[in-house]
Amino acid sequence: MKEHDIRPKEIFDEYLRLTAEDTATYFSDASRHEVCCPSCGANGETAFIKSGFSYAECPQCRTLYVNPRPERSAFDRYYTDSPSTRYWATTFYRETEAARREKIWKPKAELIRQKLSTLPAVDEIVDIGGGYGTFAEEISLVYGCKVTVIEPSLHLAEVCRSKGFEVIEKFLEDVSPDDLDDKTRCFVSFELFEHLYDPALFLGTLNKLMRIGDTFIFSTLNGMGADIRVLWEHSQAVSPPHHLNFFNPHSVSKLLARCGFNLLETTTPGRLDVNIIENNLPHVTDRFWQSFMLQASERAKQELQDFLARHLLSSHMMVICTKDWEL
Ligand SMILES: [Zn+2]
Repeated sequence: MKEHDIRPKEIFDEYLRLTAEDTATYFSDASRHEVCCPSCGANGETAFIKSGFSYAECPQCRTLYVNPRPERSAFDRYYTDSPSTRYWATTFYRETEAARREKIWKPKAELIRQKLSTLPAVDEIVDIGGGYGTFAEEISLVYGCKVTVIEPSLHLAEVCRSKGFEVIEKFLEDVSPDDLDDKTRCFVSFELFEHLYDPALFLGTLNKLMRIGDTFIFSTLNGMGADIRVLWEHSQAVSPPHHLNFFNPHSVSKLLARCGFNLLETTTPGRLDVNIIENNLPHVTDRFWQSFMLQASERAKQELQDFLARHLLSSHMMVICTKDWEL
């Protein structure tokens, strides 16, 4: 798989252009306040500024996060009605759904099916931020249980309903245990965690919706991943106002432990790091990476990617945990 298969350059560039405009519109006047490391609570050290957003890195656990944070209401307004959010929910999803289904969601559904087969059987999968419903469709095909989608966006909730899924059209924070059936559940959320304004609050809310032993599987960006470390502020993954938190295998385990979760497994099954570094060579300043990208064979690049994925050094991280205790 190549980066441009799932993020066609023209469409993604237009999305980035709209985002830059929206960032000025929605955030330039927003008041900001200091926040501590979202994992361990230490004071972060300024790492860089990008598009008017300052990022800090925690000296203790290496979590990279936006600090100071613009006020939450600015994000609410941005996600409710900005042009780039609309573009993402319509043009981007529509134009890339077929490619993303094949390259991302089918393999992810198969991966989740395999993971679930090692855990006690579940009666219901709850997809938090289910978006276009593509994962819901694919997991339904390979793991035959009820799939419910939690999706606050009106447009995306309609898409999921039209695909036959039960949709809870709310933010997770507004979902009550009564909205869910009394079943053994596995909650999933993909590429959502890095967007969260307050990850501990999110996990606290989720803890209250779950029963002891229920599973939560999520994927997010790994701030210790190769392409993010190499490209740093030039990494497209570092994309304010969307990506506010870059946890890593170590820091995410700390956060989960204090929010009542028992970590079962962290993996970094990412496949794109080397290709992303290669596509951004003008921003690569390290001599090793420059010469490697220019001279290495395709096989060497693939082997390096496999090594990164195996050793928790790829920038796409998947976490499996269960609810351990009531918060
Ligand atoms: Zn920390």
